[in-house]
Amino acid sequence: MTGLQDRALASFLGLAIGDALGAAAEFMTRGEIAAEHGVLRDIVGGGWLRLKAGAVTDDTAMALALGKSLVRRNGLDLTDVCEEFAAWLRSGPLDVGNTCRRGIRRYIQRGLVTGPMNEGDAGNGAAMRFLPVAIASHHNAERARRWAVEQAHTTHNHPLSDAACETLATMVVALLGGNGKGAAAERADELVSRHPTFRFVPYPGISSAYVVDTIQTAFDGYFSTTSFEDCLIRVVNHGGDADTTGAIAGALAGATYGLDAIPKRWLKSLDRDVAAAIRALVPRLLAIPDRS
Ligand code: MN
Ligand code: MN
Repeated sequence: MTGLQDRALASFLGLAIGDALGAAAEFMTRGEIAAEHGVLRDIVGGGWLRLKAGAVTDDTAMALALGKSLVRRNGLDLTDVCEEFAAWLRSGPLDVGNTCRRGIRRYIQRGLVTGPMNEGDAGNGAAMRFLPVAIASHHNAERARRWAVEQAHTTHNHPLSDAACETLATMVVALLGGNGKGAAAERADELVSRHPTFRFVPYPGISSAYVVDTIQTAFDGYFSTTSFEDCLIRVVNHGGDADTTGAIAGALAGATYGLDAIPKRWLKSLDRDVAAAIRALVPRLLAIPDRS
């Protein structure tokens, strides 16, 4: 496996592991997590969704759906993406964010693949599934940036969600290219200078589903630690939208530290079908050509 293949696979597995680990703590406070788990450091399942250990939630499911469409269409085809999201919604998933549900229903009922700018669309539901566009555009940061926003607008149309999606996508492109954490830090600094509300040092300590809180929590965990394991443990133990902060931080940490850095106990715990789907998908995402 090349370095690129290793980092891309680690990034997608990292997203799923962050989701599975954090799901046990979703909507909990730090105190509630401490009372129940001490420090949450294993993939134990449970949580409000009563998951089996290793099961993932909507974050990973929507990222896989987007990735499947990219591979099938050899690029971004918004109608096909919406078809994939609609099929997922019809399958009766355990959890669906309100803004995602509204966007998918808009497609099902009216055939619209994008919605207008909306003040209420600053949740993290588009950012949580950004990863496959970054892997598919690993050779082209500009296309990654554009696709990250276009896929976002199927459900979320808000400048802060857009800024988060663009930043995550270009960060992962830089990381997949082997440019390391310094390059990721430059992208994060750009985001903060354009939108100071995203400032994450010192960490404000709120890990809600508001995209600003989510990004601050993921970036705090990612930039203040030096390993995949420490990053995810720090992030999910804040609770709140812990599966989503975990998924985003896991994608960044996976792309940075690679497969060998993911704890074996977490790789073993991850749902087998999900792991197999990710292992099949990532090489095909990497093979999508750079035509633009
Ligand atoms: Mn979720
Ligand atoms: Mn969540």
